[in-house]
Amino acid sequence: METIAIQDKIFKRSIAASEIQSMVTDIAARMNYDLEGDDVVFVAILNGAFMFASDLIRKIKVNCRITFLKLASYQGSNSTGIIKQLIGLNEVLKDKTVVIVEDIVDTGITLDTVLRQIESFQPKEIKVAALLFKPDVYTFSHRIDYVGFNIPNEFVVGYGLDYNGYGRNLEHIYTITD
Ligand code: 5GP
Repeated sequence: METIAIQDKIFKRSIAASEIQSMVTDIAARMNYDLEGDDVVFVAILNGAFMFASDLIRKIKVNCRITFLKLASYQGSNSTGIIKQLIGLNEVLKDKTVVIVEDIVDTGITLDTVLRQIESFQPKEIKVAALLFKPDVYTFSHRIDYVGFNIPNEFVVGYGLDYNGYGRNLEHIYTITD
């Protein structure tokens, strides 16, 4: 079993790059079938989804645009605490088929925030793709149309995902060991 150290943690390899690549190819093929004839805007959520989005989009054959969104957290002036706001949503989404591209869906709070704000632009349809999904901790009911891998509730790094900013460059996905 291949292990790596990132700062104070040890991670073991859990999904090989070859498995990731064939999953990305499968998802792209399904999208090419489902989205044929649509006017599509891919919205990739930074930072974590940059690698998945980059591999996915180059296999997409339908007419599309791609944009990147960053979620910034800031302390609100009222008592509600952390508020997340979308930065960079400047594409015209009205009447378009929007595909949200996420690296991982955990509780689903991020996805819920993104969905609610994208809905306000009145797209024709919104589809969601997540390379990784943790079904055991998902607390929302939004459908995730394209899931790469269902994984247990354990912390993972690699293929865009980080631990304290490190590990995004890794081609495989690694799971934390205790
Ligand atoms: P959610 O809002 O669904 O709870 O969490 C989504 C965000 O939390 C992801 O976009 C990602 O940034 C972070 N996240 C959740 N689980 C993991 C994980 O196992 N590893 C890493 N590196 N980030 C995670």
